[in-house]
Amino acid sequence: MARPGFEREQRIQFELEDCSFETLALRAGQHRSDEGEHSDPIYPTSSYVFSSAREAAARFGGEEEGNIYSRFTNPTVRAFEQRIAALEGGERAVATSSGMAAILSVGLSLLKCGDHVVCSRSVFGSTVALFQKYLSRAGIETTFVDPTDLAAWRAALRDNTRLLFLETPSNPLSELTDVRAVADIAHQHGALLAVDNCFCTPVLQQPLSQGADLVVHSATKYLDGQGRCIGGAVVGRKAEMEEIFGFIRTGGACLSPFNAWVFLKGLETLPIRMRAHCENAQTMAEWLQQQPGIERVHYAGLASHPQHQLAKRQQSGFGGVLSFEVSGGQEAAWRFIDATEMVSITGNLGDVKTTITHPYTTTHGRMTEEDKAVAGIKQNLIRLSVGLESLDDLKTDMQRGLAAL
Ligand SMILES: *Cc1c(COP(=O)(O)O)cnc(C)c1O
Repeated sequence: MARPGFEREQRIQFELEDCSFETLALRAGQHRSDEGEHSDPIYPTSSYVFSSAREAAARFGGEEEGNIYSRFTNPTVRAFEQRIAALEGGERAVATSSGMAAILSVGLSLLKCGDHVVCSRSVFGSTVALFQKYLSRAGIETTFVDPTDLAAWRAALRDNTRLLFLETPSNPLSELTDVRAVADIAHQHGALLAVDNCFCTPVLQQPLSQGADLVVHSATKYLDGQGRCIGGAVVGRKAEMEEIFGFIRTGGACLSPFNAWVFLKGLETLPIRMRAHCENAQTMAEWLQQQPGIERVHYAGLASHPQHQLAKRQQSGFGGVLSFEVSGGQEAAWRFIDATEMVSITGNLGDVKTTITHPYTTTHGRMTEEDKAVAGIKQNLIRLSVGLESLDDLKTDMQRGLAAL
């Protein structure tokens, strides 16, 4: 006899609602074709065929559900959307061609000319540029605020404020924003709160459960985790997600089925990877703090971090990214970076391989001197996205950097 539900729905053979997070990461949205494959199939098709002209007309007319064209829907992309929605605890997700496309879709589908945004000033560089340079052309104005200062969030509100946007913890200084408190500020004003959950992933923090209305992801980082593909997602309630879906299917920033498949594979190991990243980063942060030549380590897992208590309340782990200031200026930071041999010098993060970055001259290089000073991006600052190499090998490599200071 077949297992219950097997013939009815080859896709999901059990009730997912009862499953724990780890199981959802492996099985939510799981899709199985008639071939009975165990790994998720990839559907590399641009369009779909219909059994009759009548069926085609019904699909196009929206009277019948089903696939039409992969800019609209694709089974592999849908599986990724269902899995990330389950992990974030959202009603629905829409996958996008990149993390930036996810943020753009929030801006262009939920805002209109004359609306106002309040945004943390410590968000991803392209996010700042998107709001400041491009959404402003559509008549959407943005005020940037200190993300840790709740009074600043409140003071920046205007009658036409429709969206609050933040990233926590921030890159590269690990500043936190109290999601619950900012969600309350947004809702009292009739605005929405969107949180970029790229650094924590749903393993360490679920912003929707803390009052946020939307979560955006760069799947390029930890969701893939192995530096292979660019992609993103937005997760939220059905009403807002319907608007975002409409924008993506029309605007065209959809996710490729191959990338969706890679992200499905990435999500399978996300819980176990995130825990390993946290463990390695914690040990590295504590160790670096004790080394001569290191002036300051920024990591919310350190008791010395000014928001350590908030991090313990809001997150179930402190994440894999830390930054530190070396004694000296930019030359010292560059000497440190160049003396390492194993870690990769790159702007990317969230990879199983450790990456090292000089934010002042790369990821944050386009900011003005003034903005860098306000944001605390100093010339002697180095960011480390701690990977899963052995701690002994990582310490040996950091020791090469320290010796060069
Ligand atoms: C990388 C990143 C993005 C942009 O994602 P892409 O996939 O590169 O478009 C957005 N937010 C954060 C926090 C990021 O690190």
